[in-house]
Amino acid sequence: MTPPLATERVLSTLNQDGTRHWIHPRLAAGRFLRGRKVVGYALIAMFLVLPFVHVGGRPALLLDVLTQELSVFGAVFKATDGYLMMLLGLIIVVTVFLVTALFGRVWCGWACPQTVYLEHVFRPIERWLEGSPSQRRKLDAARGVHGRRVLKWLIYAALSFVLANVFLAYFVGVDRLATWVLVSPLQHPGGFMTVAGVAALMLFDFGYFREQTCNVACPYGRLQSVLLDRQSLIIGYDTRRGEPRGKPKKHLPVIGERGDCIDCSACVAVCPTGIDIREGLQMECIGCAQCIDACDAVMDRIAKPRKLIGYTSQDELEGKPRRLLRTRTILYPVLLAGVTGLFVWALGGETTQVHVERAQGPIFVELPDGMISSQARIKLDNETDEERSYAVHLSRAPDAKLRTPQVTWQVQGGRSMTLPLFVDVPRSSFVHGKRVVSLRVADDRGFARIVEVTLLGPEGAVP
Ligand code: SF4
Ligand code: SF4
Repeated sequence: MTPPLATERVLSTLNQDGTRHWIHPRLAAGRFLRGRKVVGYALIAMFLVLPFVHVGGRPALLLDVLTQELSVFGAVFKATDGYLMMLLGLIIVVTVFLVTALFGRVWCGWACPQTVYLEHVFRPIERWLEGSPSQRRKLDAARGVHGRRVLKWLIYAALSFVLANVFLAYFVGVDRLATWVLVSPLQHPGGFMTVAGVAALMLFDFGYFREQTCNVACPYGRLQSVLLDRQSLIIGYDTRRGEPRGKPKKHLPVIGERGDCIDCSACVAVCPTGIDIREGLQMECIGCAQCIDACDAVMDRIAKPRKLIGYTSQDELEGKPRRLLRTRTILYPVLLAGVTGLFVWALGGETTQVHVERAQGPIFVELPDGMISSQARIKLDNETDEERSYAVHLSRAPDAKLRTPQVTWQVQGGRSMTLPLFVDVPRSSFVHGKRVVSLRVADDRGFARIVEVTLLGPEGAVP
């Protein structure tokens, strides 16, 4: 049965009957492509190298899903650092809002790993093996197995395996990943399945799904309508200059000026998401600037000024001036400065969590000299990445005496320790069976904290 055809505009990656519309974009050489290549290959080198870089003995960037720790250039955040993680998340979100308000989808077109790998690694291999867009369309239509296409998929599979390992290195670390890869899958079935699953997803994405990831799977593209304003940087077609468009030979018998657009469709042929930028700003536009390079080349050929398609803003396209200062470009930096300040303040704050715990076993004993010895249990969480040496002293309690099995305690980075302490106080100092003492906990790097501990003693010792 023939499916019903859509009566309204459908996504550029679909035909009207809902089947996939394969896009085989031409490559337009030009200044923006050159710039994107420099940025793209530099980013690929960074993506590959960063998992091996260590800062302060820790990976420069690692979101360790097994230990639930995030390492960012020497700083370590644990899942329990709720407020720090929340502030870090807020910084990222507000930065994304600000960058998008100012520069539109520059991230998508220039720096997103999806675009960078697809446009600078996978598509060049496809062009090399399968030729021009028209040759690829012929291959699409041909029946049977074709050697060049098989070779392409084999190379894609190998590349996907490498990229899956690079990707996972940011979540499990290179050492653990090396074990997964080098040791027999039977010894690490979970690790092997993870690598194989991610590699299969990458192959599916870069080989088949492609621009649909940006169109239907990535939430960032869908948020553009709220993240952009009319002054944000976009790639746009200057309708006032380009229209009325028309082919040079059969040009319009129109009264008045003709536009600069010669309706050559070069801008459409190069678009990796298959849209026509002349129809205005569209959700599918990833800001790759290929249509600018294509149209600039056409303008050069017909001796017209460049930038019929160019970086602009919606207001600028309507002849209004550019304005850097708008509500959101003032609000976001203020918000970002506030959240970043809070984050830095919280980061430089306490490096150790001190918790008073409930005593276990006999909570007090009476000593031969009549003093009451009570238990005080203190738990230390060393939240730094290095070993710290802690000492505990009584604070402002001249009638009390602290007894500890050792003078200092070494607590490794990221570890906890509960200290067994005994405090001797006169029986007469208990009020309704309780006595509060202050203990000063300090480490060898400047951390110090006073905690109050309630000692439990003889109930009858009420003055
Ligand atoms: S490349 Fe330029 S001239 Fe050609 S159709 Fe697109 S906008 Fe018009
Ligand atoms: S419209 Fe232009 S900038 Fe947008 S995705 Fe297509 S080629 Fe890239």
